[in-house]
This record gives sequence, C-alpha cells and structure tokens, in this order.
Amino acid sequence: MATKRDYYEVLGVGKNAAADEIKKAYRKVAMQFHPDRNPGDKSAEDKFKEAAEAYEVLSDAEKKKRYDQYGHAGMSGNGGFGGGAGGMRMEDIFTNFGDIFGDMQGSPFEAFFGGGRGTRERTRGVRGGNLRIKVPLTLQEIAKGAHKSLKVKKHVTCETCSGSGAKDNSSFHTCSACKGSGVIRRIQNTVLGQMSTTTTCPTCNGEGQVITAKCGTCHGEGRVYGEDTIQVDIPAGVAEGMQLSMSGKGNAGERGGSAGDLIIAIEEEDHGDLKRDGNNVIYELYISFVDAALGTGVDVPTIDGKARIKIKPGTQAGEIFRLKGKGLPNVNAYGSGDQLIHVNVWVPKELNNEERTLLEKLRDSHNFQPNPGKNEKNFFEKMRDYFA
Ligand code: ZN
Repeated sequence: MATKRDYYEVLGVGKNAAADEIKKAYRKVAMQFHPDRNPGDKSAEDKFKEAAEAYEVLSDAEKKKRYDQYGHAGMSGNGGFGGGAGGMRMEDIFTNFGDIFGDMQGSPFEAFFGGGRGTRERTRGVRGGNLRIKVPLTLQEIAKGAHKSLKVKKHVTCETCSGSGAKDNSSFHTCSACKGSGVIRRIQNTVLGQMSTTTTCPTCNGEGQVITAKCGTCHGEGRVYGEDTIQVDIPAGVAEGMQLSMSGKGNAGERGGSAGDLIIAIEEEDHGDLKRDGNNVIYELYISFVDAALGTGVDVPTIDGKARIKIKPGTQAGEIFRLKGKGLPNVNAYGSGDQLIHVNVWVPKELNNEERTLLEKLRDSHNFQPNPGKNEKNFFEKMRDYFA
C-alpha cells in the first residue's frame, strides 16, 4: 500500500488548527482540485479525494483524536481496513459538501458547487447505518496481529431485487416533481448577480424515480435483516478502546443506498499472568527469600511461551528485570516494548518447628541484618530508571 500523506499536511494546516481553520483549508483545497475545474485530470481527482478523506477525519472530534494518537493505523484504510486512499466515493464527497459550503449560501462557493455541478450523479436510496461490534483479543493476538472472521447480524442487500426495492424493471417511473433530475433548481438574485441553487427533490429523495410496485421480499426497502461474515486483519499492537472502521461493511443502505461502516471496537482479554502497561508487559514474580539469597533459575511466562531467567544470589525485593523486545509492537511505528519482571520476595506465613529453629539460629547472623548501602535504590527510583 502506498504511504499515506499526513492529513494535516494534505490540508496545509498545523496540528493545533481550530475546527474553523480546518474547514476553511478544506474548502480551499477542494476548490483547487475540484473535478469541474480539472476535467480528466486523474492526479487532481486523487488530491480531491485525499483532501475529502483528511477532512472527514480532522472534522470529527472522535476520529481526529484517534488519528492524533495512532496516526493512519487507527483509521480505516490501514492494515486491511476500508478502501484506503481514494476509498471515499465521489458521490459521498459531494453529499458532504452540503455541510461544508452550506453556510455560504449565495457566495461564489455556493454558485460554483451548488449550481455549477450539472453533471452531479443522482443519489440513490438512503445510506445504511454504521454498526459497532466488540472484538475481544488475547495478548498473543495483540502481539502478532490477528485475522478474524466475524459473523455480523445486519441489514444486507435484498437478493430478490438486488437492492432496488422494486418488483421488476417496469416498476420504476420517472419522478414527475423533478422530471427525473433528482433536484429542484431555483434562480436567486444576490449581490453577486443571479445564482442558481439546487435542492434535493423531496418527492423522490433525489433518486429521480419512484417505485410503483414493491419487491415482495423486502417490501420495497431493498434490504433484509440477515447475517454476513466479514474478514478482518487487525494490526499488531492495538489497544483496548481503539476503534477501527471498515468502510461500507455496516448496514446495507435502503433502495441501493451506500452501506454504512462497520466499527470494530477492540477489547483486551485478561491474560492472567501478564499485565499490559502501554507497549510493555509486566510480570509479578514471587520467589522465596531462600532463592533470593542463594540465587536460582526460574521460568517466567512471556507472550510467546516461557523464558528462563537467572536470579543472582542476593537479589532484592523490588528489583526489576527486563526482557528486551518481549513486549508489544507499536501499532503506529517500528519497535516493540519490553517485558518487565518485578521481583517480589515471599516471606513464609507459617513455619513448622524445624523451620522456626533453623531461622532462629540465623536471626542474629550478621548477614541477616538489613544493611541498605549507599547504592541501594528504592522501588520508585528503580521504576524511574526503567521508564526513563
Ligand atoms: Zn427486495
């Protein structure tokens, strides 16, 4: 997949740009690369779509937050999600123009986009709703990335009528209100001269035609409730609460309208032994104070199986061992976190007579007296060293 440009760069705004500034920047770029101004220019069309995609994300507080945090990996179009660059359909882009240029009634923008676009495609049907499903992942799946086959209950296109909602081809009739254009055109006088404005025809909802006999299976809706199996590749390193959106995999639209998006909400399953901390994983190791004093070797669980670590004689409670690169990969960059092993020294809670006698003999031994030297760091100092 080609590398995507940074959305802020695409719109030519800074990371701290306000919503107004982002909107203004998008208008400017959309004007510059608008297909009406660049007929037949494929690179202009790509730039036009790229800008629409950037705006779609940066104008949505939730998506923007996700993008700021995870970059393109958190968005549709990465790691098998959505259609990637150019995944937005021209039809949808123009539909959204109502919001972008809608507050500029009577301005040259309105004349340019509203009235000037005679070749605009008629909209069909009603867009399907977005769907949100939770996908639980084990720590192993998060570490390696996962392929999931998801059974999703949702509205699917009616097979009888192929989504049109009509009984057969003779059931379609040209809308009399708009004469099939799907839009009602009005001429307005403004300070800048005569402007032509268009609004969606309310009779046919912009479809240009009306259906007189409905499909018997879906009763004219063009979709039925059913089930779909969706294949998803989830990139490695995702985290609880992340959402990935698959464009067009949500509910089917009504009467041939475009489908909604499928939002995949990541859930982390509890591992039991390992706790996640960002890209690091933490393991609480318990050893007996005898092993801490004499030294030993122990097996510790890691994301991919057991690892043997050496406990050197004189190991103190609170020491932290690090298994480099044994954490989780960064979802948005190269590199992986580490596994941190936090040493806990277990003190026996019960003793039998023999053990008590042995320990009492050792109690007054010089080496058993706590004697933290100048170089002993406390727990917080050690944690700071590791996370620095
Ligand atoms: Zn049908």
